[in-house]
Amino acid sequence: MDSVKPKASAPLTKEHFRRVMGQFATGVTVVTTRLGDEVHGLTANAVCSVSLEPLLVLVCVDHAADTHPLLEKSGVFAVNILSQEQEDLSRLFASPTEEKAGRLQALGYRTAVTGAPIIAGCLAYLDCRVVAAYPGGDHTIFVGRVEQAEIGADAPPLLFFRGHYTTVREAEG
Ligand SMILES: Cc1cc2nc3c(=O)[nH]c(=O)nc-3n(C[C@H](O)[C@H](O)[C@H](O)COP(=O)(O)OP(=O)(O)OC[C@H]3O[C@@H](n4cnc5c(N)ncnc54)[C@H](O)[C@@H]3O)c2cc1C
Repeated sequence: MDSVKPKASAPLTKEHFRRVMGQFATGVTVVTTRLGDEVHGLTANAVCSVSLEPLLVLVCVDHAADTHPLLEKSGVFAVNILSQEQEDLSRLFASPTEEKAGRLQALGYRTAVTGAPIIAGCLAYLDCRVVAAYPGGDHTIFVGRVEQAEIGADAPPLLFFRGHYTTVREAEG
């Protein structure tokens, strides 16, 4: 009988944790919010469906992200699910730049129920109102009740796997 030789464990560092979690392929979203005239957003993959009754989703947001205080104050957010054509948008909203608000205006976002920006050309969106916020280490877990949700573009999704953007076709091959 073959014996399985245990591998020496890698030290449990942040880098190791990121590499391990990187094996979990995800879609990519831009989570947007709006407070008065101020619109903002960040690229996020820590997004998850939570409950069907009521309809709830969660998003985990870094305390250091500029989006965090805005989301806390506004109490609303939209999850915009990106297509593989929207990698540029994902890169933009994953960088600390002031261009984001201007880009959102230029892209011509619309709003649904809560007023959070809904970006054109996405696969789908969920328009949410924050009903709970839980501490999650250096992130806050915002739970949102879904006020409206729609499917948009009929296109393949943008994926994130092992620290890189990929597509369904590349992931298959
Ligand atoms: C695929 C992917 C998934 C991600 N998922 C998540 C997720 O689920 N949750 C999450 O919280 N993040 C996630 N991120 C990271 C997030 O998208 C980025 O941190 C993004 O920049 C946050 O945008 P922001 O505008 O909210 O904050 P930013 O404006 O980017 O601010 C972030 C920090 O940068 C500092 N900063 C601002 N401007 C500058 C500057 N010019 N130079 C140097 N520092 C500056 C700010 O003081 C602040 O501390 C993800 C990134 C990627 C690529």
